[in-house]
Amino acid sequence: MRMRGVARLHLSGSEATRRQVLHGLTAAGVILSAPAVIGQARPRVVVVGGGAGGATAARHMAETLDVTLVEPNPVYRSCFFSNLAIGGFVAFDALAHDYTGVTATGVRLIQARAAGVDEGAVKLEDGTQLAFDRCVLAPGIAFREDSLPGWSPSDEERIPSAYMTGGRPERIREQILNLPEGGTWCLVAPPDPSRCPPAPYERASMAAHLLKQNNPRAKILIVDPKAKYAKQALFEEGWQEHYTGMIDRLGPDFGTGNLEIRPDAMEVVVDGMAEAADAINVIPAQQAGAIAHLAGVTDDTGWAPVEPTAMRSRLRPDVHVVGDAAHPGGIPKAASAAVSEARVAAAAIVAELTGAPLPEPSYASACWSAIAGDDSVSEATSFRPGPDGLEAVAHEISQTGEDAAVRRANWDNAFSWYASITAEIFG
Ligand SMILES: Cc1cc2nc3c(=O)[nH]c(=O)nc-3n(C[C@H](O)[C@H](O)[C@H](O)COP(=O)(O)OP(=O)(O)OC[C@H]3O[C@@H](n4cnc5c(N)ncnc54)[C@H](O)[C@@H]3O)c2cc1C
Repeated sequence: MRMRGVARLHLSGSEATRRQVLHGLTAAGVILSAPAVIGQARPRVVVVGGGAGGATAARHMAETLDVTLVEPNPVYRSCFFSNLAIGGFVAFDALAHDYTGVTATGVRLIQARAAGVDEGAVKLEDGTQLAFDRCVLAPGIAFREDSLPGWSPSDEERIPSAYMTGGRPERIREQILNLPEGGTWCLVAPPDPSRCPPAPYERASMAAHLLKQNNPRAKILIVDPKAKYAKQALFEEGWQEHYTGMIDRLGPDFGTGNLEIRPDAMEVVVDGMAEAADAINVIPAQQAGAIAHLAGVTDDTGWAPVEPTAMRSRLRPDVHVVGDAAHPGGIPKAASAAVSEARVAAAAIVAELTGAPLPEPSYASACWSAIAGDDSVSEATSFRPGPDGLEAVAHEISQTGEDAAVRRANWDNAFSWYASITAEIFG
């Protein structure tokens, strides 16, 4: 097995083309060139959550505004690329990013958890109030705890989800490697909308990659409440080619609308029929992170509606929401999307608080999914605000039947993407 570090960015021809489609990815300088406020205290922004969205927003505003970032973890561990670490292609340590590059831009980091957002101040768990002129919430997701009978967050050790920073993808790799010979690994996929829609199927691919080498009679069972899923034709073709007969998927036709988890028995019950497994990976239904609910920016969908020109909450004008917690419409929940949302929100806040010109908002999402070593598929879309939310203006996706060289180039581009996006988020 080949272990790879995460290479620094070098743009191949196809990457450069993708960058042209995703022109939003290169717009960073616009924000950083906004005029400084002279002769008065700088306006204050408090950013809650130091992940893909929050750290990016904080860095992009720090030159002109007084920015405080509230984040409980000293080190961020990216979920993006964690499936490749499960597969053994990336070291788990390569997923860890500290905040040195964020504070170096002048951002004040407070290692704490926000417990509420009052009028003009973020409240921390110890009661400290951080006054703001604008607040950016970027807390990512929370699980819907009552969405899956039998499952509870306290089962995380036995049945890890590894779907948030601080989750333990290492444990999933261990469980796959320790399956008994010919055993079954069961992945319960989430309903829509969820973070990184193709991630469960990439994870199943990486599990199959491990099992093919170590335990080739083992089986993977995907239990999926959705009728269809992202990049489905591409995954199905890849599984047929690389992992023939190893992966089965049960969808709603088999009763997956009615599921129960029995952690003690290691069973997933599908419409009354128990499926036994040796290890289970449950990815539960999702909603915006808890602080978004406490701040009053979520609606009954569980997500935070925002207007798509500035990522401003439709429910609280002093708060912007970026990343997976936000619902600007149309754009998938992905790190790439979170970064472009953060850029738009940061530019709008700088413009509003300093009088800097407001750049035209543009958004992009780009997502690579590994099916096997040297075989990655990709999807990239750029978006503009429309009357009902974000609208796609350009879209590219891998095709079935592609040449191995194209897939190999995608594989390399994914590593370049990880290096460049984490450099933009964390410096
Ligand atoms: C397995 C997997 C694979 C993925 N692969 C990809 C991929 O290939 N490409 C891609 O683009 N995306 C991918 N993603 C999706 C990506 O991880 C998310 O879309 C992205 O992290 C969202 O950024 P965010 O800022 O909204 O949330 P996060 O990055 O999760 O950051 C949220 C931060 O908020 C902090 N926080 C939460 N509550 C509070 C609080 N009350 N006070 C202070 N801080 C708080 C958390 O500690 C965390 O650091 C993947 C996700 C998974 C699970």
